[in-house]
Amino acid sequence: MADRMLQFVSIEQHQPDKRVVAERKLDFDEIYRHFDVSQAETQSSRCSQCGVPFCQVHCPLQNNIPDWLKLTAEGRLQEAYEVSAATNNFPEICGRICPQDRLCEGNCVIEKGFDSVTIGAVERFITDNAWEQGWVKPIRPARERDASIGIVGAGPGGLAAAEQMRRLGYQVHVYDRYDRVGGLMIYGIPGFKLEKDIVLRRHALLAEGAINFHLGKGIGAEDSDTEIAFSTLRERHDAILLATGVYKSRALGGPGSGVGGLVKALDFLTASNRRSLGDSVPAFDSGELNAAGRNVVVIGGGDTAMDCVRTAVRQGAKSVKCLYRRDRANMPGSLREVKNAEEEGVEFVWLAAPEAFLGDDTVTGVRAVRMKLGLPDASGRQSVDPVEQSGFTLEADLVIKALGFDPEPLPTLWNQPELEVSRWGTLKVGHVSFMTSLPGVFAAGDIVRGASLVVWAIRDGRDAAAQMHQWLDARPALAVAAE
Ligand code: FAD
Ligand code: SF4
Ligand code: SF4
Repeated sequence: MADRMLQFVSIEQHQPDKRVVAERKLDFDEIYRHFDVSQAETQSSRCSQCGVPFCQVHCPLQNNIPDWLKLTAEGRLQEAYEVSAATNNFPEICGRICPQDRLCEGNCVIEKGFDSVTIGAVERFITDNAWEQGWVKPIRPARERDASIGIVGAGPGGLAAAEQMRRLGYQVHVYDRYDRVGGLMIYGIPGFKLEKDIVLRRHALLAEGAINFHLGKGIGAEDSDTEIAFSTLRERHDAILLATGVYKSRALGGPGSGVGGLVKALDFLTASNRRSLGDSVPAFDSGELNAAGRNVVVIGGGDTAMDCVRTAVRQGAKSVKCLYRRDRANMPGSLREVKNAEEEGVEFVWLAAPEAFLGDDTVTGVRAVRMKLGLPDASGRQSVDPVEQSGFTLEADLVIKALGFDPEPLPTLWNQPELEVSRWGTLKVGHVSFMTSLPGVFAAGDIVRGASLVVWAIRDGRDAAAQMHQWLDARPALAVAAE
């Protein structure tokens, strides 16, 4: 019923409403309200059903966006769910936390002059509604296979691969050093962007589909109570996927950088997420990782920094400032999140970098210097240089370092010198095969790409699973050929 579509000329874009600031600052619940059926249908009908849909081209999963928008507009919600789930393992999560302004919605052809279709919000609605209706079912493979797969890391990359392999009937085992499933989706990303129940219900569904989870089990160099040696893992399974993410915080130097009160972003966010999940967190209770009543300065301009400032607000900080050496237009974080943070009372100190941290035992202030943007380098990014005689001091009794993450040195940690890494420490894999330098050991997600996005980890996990399946399928033929 094409006449239901193309309504963008008469129907305005309407994103889901946000909760009012005074209310949302008091808890860690998501700030966006849900579309109801009628809003989802109406907003979907704005799509012009492009012959070459740029929204789909710019979605890392190449989701069939025009198809599920049309089905939603026509009220065929179960079919919309099935089309959406065919290309995305966690559509309701991507609908919540993808930077849509840079991906699908930012490339919607009706954006210019009319505002894009609200793709993310509809995607989220379709699967949330499917859960409510009982349409989301555990995996029941058509046939079982004997081959066993070991997946290290229960983040989006590992989980997407686990689901794809289980669908094909493999015996899938997922190992994670954390006690919960989800990787950065459970302990990194705060509840106000992604409520934890959304992640936990996915875990329950995957477990119901007979994926075996081994939580609190890290992979390391030797077998112990808490760790399994990488070599043991290889003996246990026919193929391995490494999806361990990147966790080494970039360091911050300068005078006073060893003073108390300077904490790592992920420690701060993990403590907060654990508290929300009801865990006991001594470093939160002692105040070490708690912003309540403190003057907080967050250093960095990415999504992690945005999550820290907004977490500090919710913990009841006295003041929250974000120090970033470039300007608003050149920050890596999502502008939508900057706007949300500003609404919640965060002050951005653009074009400023820390020079020194003041205080004897514990930090009392950050000595900073103004920066100016210079000429673009070979990559097109403008350089930043300090402005002479521009020093100033910000009062601070908690400083959060959010400067990004690098991979841990896996070949050393796992005593696997032959596991090849790039000069950035990420695992090297075949461009198409996703296989590392070790036969039968594949890798996907941030540990291959460097710090990236959930949607890219899902894409890599799916692609790596397809390659593992192909490799496993070819094995008997290879063995026979070798005889
Ligand atoms: P991860 O999610 O990091 O999962 C890796 C898993 O491997 C973890 O569970 C870890 O415990 C486990 N592991 C690591 N080493 C071992 C070992 N030796 N043994 C056993 N287990 C191990 N992306 C977005 O798209 N939108 C956002 O809004 C967004 N916000 C973010 C906010 C923060 C604070 C951070 C840090 C990241 C954010 N990202 C966001 C990025 C996104 O979370 C990551 O790109 C994505 O989670 C990567 O998925 P992954 O599966 O590769 O790794
Ligand atoms: Fe857009 Fe992300 Fe959904 Fe793709 S997965 S359609 S980029 S929100
Ligand atoms: Fe619809 Fe926009 Fe995608 Fe075109 S680009 S198919 S209008 S959502």
